[in-house]
Amino acid sequence: MDYISTRGQDGPLGFEQALLSGLARDGGLYLPVEWPRFSKAEIAAMKGLSYAELAGRIMAPFCDGEISEAELTAMAADAYAGFDDPAIAPLVKLNDDIHILELFHGPTIAFKDYAMQFLARAFDRALAKQQKHAVILGATSGDTGSAALEAFQGRDAVDVFILFPDGRVSPVQQRQMTSVTADGAFAVSVKGDFDDCQALVKTLFNDHQFRDQVGLSAVNSINWARLMPQIVYYFSSALALGAPDQKVAFSVPTGNFGNVFAGYAAVQMGLPVERLIVASNQNDILPRFFEAGTMARETVVPSLSPSMDIQVSSNFERLLFELLGRDGAKTAAVMQDFAASGHFTLDADVMERAYALFSAYRLDDAGTVAEIATTAKNDGMVLDPHSAVGLSAARRAHADGTVPKDVPIISLACAHPAKFESAVETATGQKPVLPPHMADLMTRPEKMQTIDANADAVKSLVLARKRSG
Ligand SMILES: *Cc1c(COP(=O)(O)O)cnc(C)c1O
Repeated sequence: MDYISTRGQDGPLGFEQALLSGLARDGGLYLPVEWPRFSKAEIAAMKGLSYAELAGRIMAPFCDGEISEAELTAMAADAYAGFDDPAIAPLVKLNDDIHILELFHGPTIAFKDYAMQFLARAFDRALAKQQKHAVILGATSGDTGSAALEAFQGRDAVDVFILFPDGRVSPVQQRQMTSVTADGAFAVSVKGDFDDCQALVKTLFNDHQFRDQVGLSAVNSINWARLMPQIVYYFSSALALGAPDQKVAFSVPTGNFGNVFAGYAAVQMGLPVERLIVASNQNDILPRFFEAGTMARETVVPSLSPSMDIQVSSNFERLLFELLGRDGAKTAAVMQDFAASGHFTLDADVMERAYALFSAYRLDDAGTVAEIATTAKNDGMVLDPHSAVGLSAARRAHADGTVPKDVPIISLACAHPAKFESAVETATGQKPVLPPHMADLMTRPEKMQTIDANADAVKSLVLARKRSG
């Protein structure tokens, strides 16, 4: 499979190259040159596969000519061996209409593990083949960083540096990062906010000399190989409810638009999906876009669901490229306009294409606390704040007829409630308990560096501490 950039000036290139470079050199994001498509019979034949086998089947066309289905299945089996539920991504019935897809059974108890654990193995394989060393540099508001440090620790071919905003991640999130003490794993506290961290990463990626010198790689959700493993649980959960004969809808707590774009990919691959529901917190740039056709940047307001506190959803560019008929020049023009002015508006015919599949809902913090409380009381299920934002959107989509009642909604539960214990305690009056494999987390030894929000400081740290290459 060949990959091209959403801005039309990079590629085609193979899966491994797209994997290792992450962000395209023209500033765009990689996408497969065409969507692989499964027939109804082929989807029906997926029933009964184990999660790892299904992962191999779904990912094989994206790696065609480079990694075989059997090898992908083996990589997935290894990646998910440590997950604490044999179903890997279990689907739990909430009521007759809504099912909860639990995506918190990996080592850092948020859905990022599903992609990151696979990605680490894919990196290992590619770097070993090319006899190369890579430096992974990423910014995190919490969940991505812990998943990356956890997945890449102890891998000789990779050093991983994760920048997080000083004092602005939850105590559990911070300890998940700083308790990874292996060589080559660096949790870096930056004196600034998340946007500063992200800007630093961007600056260093645009420094092509430095980028080539250290073999810089990205593992945030702009990396195509982060999205690819996420397509699998859209298939596994829909199959569990009777796909391809039964249509389903998905409600997806959304920040950078990576997870919901994996759902979009599943639809392009032939999965019958009635609707994809984009669920946002009070940082509602996406619901405003889906209402009016205008994307307009505002300042971020911190919320109880911090992993969705975004100004700009970086993966939205992939959907934009699709909506614009895969025209790289047009996509580049819209993105440049957006960077310069902070807004763009799409034509009505383009928005029609978006409305055909997507709906969006927002929920503020008060609503989030209320949703956690009601669901705990009435349904006996304790959700984290992100998952509650998604479930509230699912309930409203059925209530207002956006999704017909006879189409079940699969609502994604993106983190374990104990990862965001204070919001959950506020709502339910009870502190959620960490799963057994993490019970001692808060007393584990820590390793961490603190630096100023300055690109030269990051550069010096990387050059001084990276192990080889
Ligand atoms: C990352 C994350 C999200 C947002 O997902 P995107 O792919 O960025 O849209 C939502 N909830 C949790 C718990 C997360 O960690």
